[in-house]
Amino acid sequence: MTTSRAFENGELIHPENKVPLLLNGEFVQSDTKTFIDVTNPATQAVICQAPVTTAGEMEAAIASAKTAFKSWSEVPPPERARHMFQYQSLLKKHQADIATVLAKETGKVFDDAMGDVWRGIEVAEHACGIPSLVMGETVENVARNIDTYSYIQPLGVCAGITPFNFPAMIPLWMFPMAIACGNSFILKPSEQDPMTPTMLAELFLEAGFPKDLLQLVHGGKEQVDTLLTHPDIKAVSFVGSVPVGQHIYKTGTDHLKRVQAFAGAKNHVVIMPDADKQRVIDNLVGSSCGAAGQRCMALSVAVFVGAAQEWIPDLKEALSQIKPGPSDDKTSAYGPLISPQAKERALRLIASAHEQGADVLLDGSDCTVPGYPNGNWIGPTLFDNVTVEMDVYKEEIFGPALSIVRTDSLEDAITLINHNQYGNGTSIFTASGAAARKYQHEIEVGQVGINVPIPVPLPFFSFTGWKNSFYGDLHAYGKQAVRFYTETKTITARWFDESIPSEGANMTIKLK
Ligand code: NAD
Repeated sequence: MTTSRAFENGELIHPENKVPLLLNGEFVQSDTKTFIDVTNPATQAVICQAPVTTAGEMEAAIASAKTAFKSWSEVPPPERARHMFQYQSLLKKHQADIATVLAKETGKVFDDAMGDVWRGIEVAEHACGIPSLVMGETVENVARNIDTYSYIQPLGVCAGITPFNFPAMIPLWMFPMAIACGNSFILKPSEQDPMTPTMLAELFLEAGFPKDLLQLVHGGKEQVDTLLTHPDIKAVSFVGSVPVGQHIYKTGTDHLKRVQAFAGAKNHVVIMPDADKQRVIDNLVGSSCGAAGQRCMALSVAVFVGAAQEWIPDLKEALSQIKPGPSDDKTSAYGPLISPQAKERALRLIASAHEQGADVLLDGSDCTVPGYPNGNWIGPTLFDNVTVEMDVYKEEIFGPALSIVRTDSLEDAITLINHNQYGNGTSIFTASGAAARKYQHEIEVGQVGINVPIPVPLPFFSFTGWKNSFYGDLHAYGKQAVRFYTETKTITARWFDESIPSEGANMTIKLK
């Protein structure tokens, strides 16, 4: 079956709820015999099936993207921007439709699903400014009568591999910027929630871009490895876990590709005794348990300094009031974890906290939600007196769990955080400008919030994780993404004045 659309009234139109591939501008049913079940994490009901793209289909996607690049790279940036404006406006128009599908396959509560889509729309919006973003540099008279100027030119076929936790935002971090820069793109989204990216791709076609510019393939390691090793792919963007990120970075760079790999995190928040207590508690509840703690910028370690430790009972009380539930229930604070395996990991880590001597103030292991006996629920979980040797401190839980570490001073908090292997995000809550200034200067983390719990930069900046949260050189969106998805060509030019005779052959490097 081949169609120009994938959805009708929010439902897949392909038979047996099999997610189509987008190849050469058409939604097609894969020839594969292998499909991956996509389940509703609140019930385990199978919603649809993602195809494991065949080798032949991978080759077809890459070949089609290569052809698309030839003509699209010649399209002037203002024309590319006009298409992107159209896309941005379609995304806005269909934000709630996308969020409905997203909530169904991730379990996110609807308002949070709307936020996931919105943060992606903002990147498409940023990509609309591409003519100014690809302006080069010029210096007249670098030597007598010689000018130097640079052009920013597209790179080729680029690929993106995305995680389950932001199925709208993270694909939209990638392909709008890559395509606005003049490249073609192949997206391999998470096999756990493939419908949302399919909807993004459908709207992309509707926006009137050349039909073969974006290809959508599905699968796992084998399909990703094809993208990492294929000679026609020039750049690979990845977001996901640390082991996979390391594999992607090593394999991609071994095959001489440009790679950016955003990986795991353990985000610390420092609470100073002079902070606003109620705001601290409200912010800790939302940023540790929002999206069931499945955000790469979720706060998972709270470092309480000195007298701020007196607020811990109030934090426990506030966390105990929130309840997970299904995505369409307005009273649900957050949804289920994405899979039984994700829940299993959270349960294992909660058990380890008991065994390794943490004070488990709240244990969400036995969480139930009426009417949803099979959901991957974990209740709000709070560990106190956590030390750096404990598994809950070392490992990413990716669940609604907050670890408390107690310190006596800001210096001790900074030392603790700087020793952590991750450097995605951090924040400090304080009323002191001096403490905040010291923190922002000395902390070895790429994104810092001051009285802001989840400091994800807007797209005119870049998403700048450090240490084991990022492998590569140039980050996502903003000016860094333009550098990542383009080549710089530097031209040095001289035009001869016929009335001036040649000075003859020059055998040495001229000093001026
Ligand atoms: P994951 O690493 O399991 O999967 C990510 C992608 O890689 C998926 O498309 C998957 O199909 C593919 N993949 C899985 N195993 C592979 C393999 N062996 N070889 C090649 N490709 C493979 O991650 P996830 O569970 O989907 O997402 C959660 C993780 O993503 C967390 O660790 C979270 O911190 C991280 N994350 C990081 C950021 C960031 O900006 N740093 C943002 C979002 C999520």
